[in-house]
Amino acid sequence: AAKTASIAGSNMLVAVRLRPLSAKEKALGETSVCEVINGNIVAITKRKAAGAVLKSEMGSVNEYQFDEAFDERVSQEAVYARTAKRLIPSVLEGFNVTVFAYGATGSGKTHTMMGSERQDAAREAALQGGEASAICGIIPLTLIDIFAGLGVKRAQASLPNEQWKLFVSYLEVYNEKVRDLFAPDSYNLPVQEDPKSGIVGVGRLSSKPAKNADEVMALLRFGNANRRTHATDANATSSRSHAVLQLLMRQEWSNSKGKAVVRESRVNLIDLAGSERAGKTNNRGIRLQEGANINRSLLALANCINALSQGSSRKNAKYRDSKLTHLLKSSLSGACKLIIIANINPSHDMFEDSHNTLKYANRAKCM
Ligand code: ADP
Ligand code: MG
Repeated sequence: AAKTASIAGSNMLVAVRLRPLSAKEKALGETSVCEVINGNIVAITKRKAAGAVLKSEMGSVNEYQFDEAFDERVSQEAVYARTAKRLIPSVLEGFNVTVFAYGATGSGKTHTMMGSERQDAAREAALQGGEASAICGIIPLTLIDIFAGLGVKRAQASLPNEQWKLFVSYLEVYNEKVRDLFAPDSYNLPVQEDPKSGIVGVGRLSSKPAKNADEVMALLRFGNANRRTHATDANATSSRSHAVLQLLMRQEWSNSKGKAVVRESRVNLIDLAGSERAGKTNNRGIRLQEGANINRSLLALANCINALSQGSSRKNAKYRDSKLTHLLKSSLSGACKLIIIANINPSHDMFEDSHNTLKYANRAKCM
């Protein structure tokens, strides 16, 4: 009961998810150094150095506690049920809701958010004892439940001229510049604060009406095709930019004087840029710049989330420190709820990145 209360009673849930090592990684001799204990603790072990003599070489275990910790066998549906699904009622009540997938490149962020269309991910899940059919991620599962919820709201509508609509925007923050993924030629869109309402949004961002989950998924595929790519490295697309899917729910009705009234709430589903240190991948020049910007956004995000978790000192959050936090300002303050899913590749090879991810997620927790 205490666990369920953590999202109902507070505005934040922090979860960690370990992905399975692939057959290929195992064949290469990689071993897991992470373990889930009791469904909410992650233990990470620094391996003993070969031929260790010094105490500092002997290895050590660190444990971190979260609201939820999912091991490599937990299915997509179960991850969804323990995280985003719990916010669906809040969304329909008018809260702004945000789900972040955090983690190093290759840790499972896109698998968690979108799912893996590739068959080998399904096979991998089956090998681990998971469900082979369950390759849909949080985004498609959330869409299905939101449209179902909208259907109920429409059926129950009792206000004069009451209508429920949903609009979709999809943007990318790359190198501290915002691009509309529905408008391939867009570049460096402005993040603007409405002087009257104080609501922050992205100027000139497209907003497309959608009637069902399939329509949104088709829009997503179109947007993904417009994500930035590097000629030399296809994987760099998703690893260096933040992809933000925004769903805008709008309830409209007429008041007793016949005037139109609007109530809006937002859902942000975010596949963050890889959290790995720029220095590790022998990049120079522009890539190093990108790395610095990525870390700047992730650092600013950590600071805003931390301020949010401390409730009263919420005003201290410096949203303007990065494009990502600035454009999310209205969703990270006021009537908002958020979920962070920190993804981990448990390989000994990824120890530093995984440990950093655990520390980052631990810092975001409610204190
Ligand atoms: P990221 O988006 O963080 O770079 P991906 O989501 O692309 O990482 O995951 C890397 C690889 O691991 C992909 O091949 C993906 O299908 C696989 N994978 C990630 N998480 C899981 C999981 N929970 N179960 C099975 N395969 C997974
Ligand atoms: Mg990815």
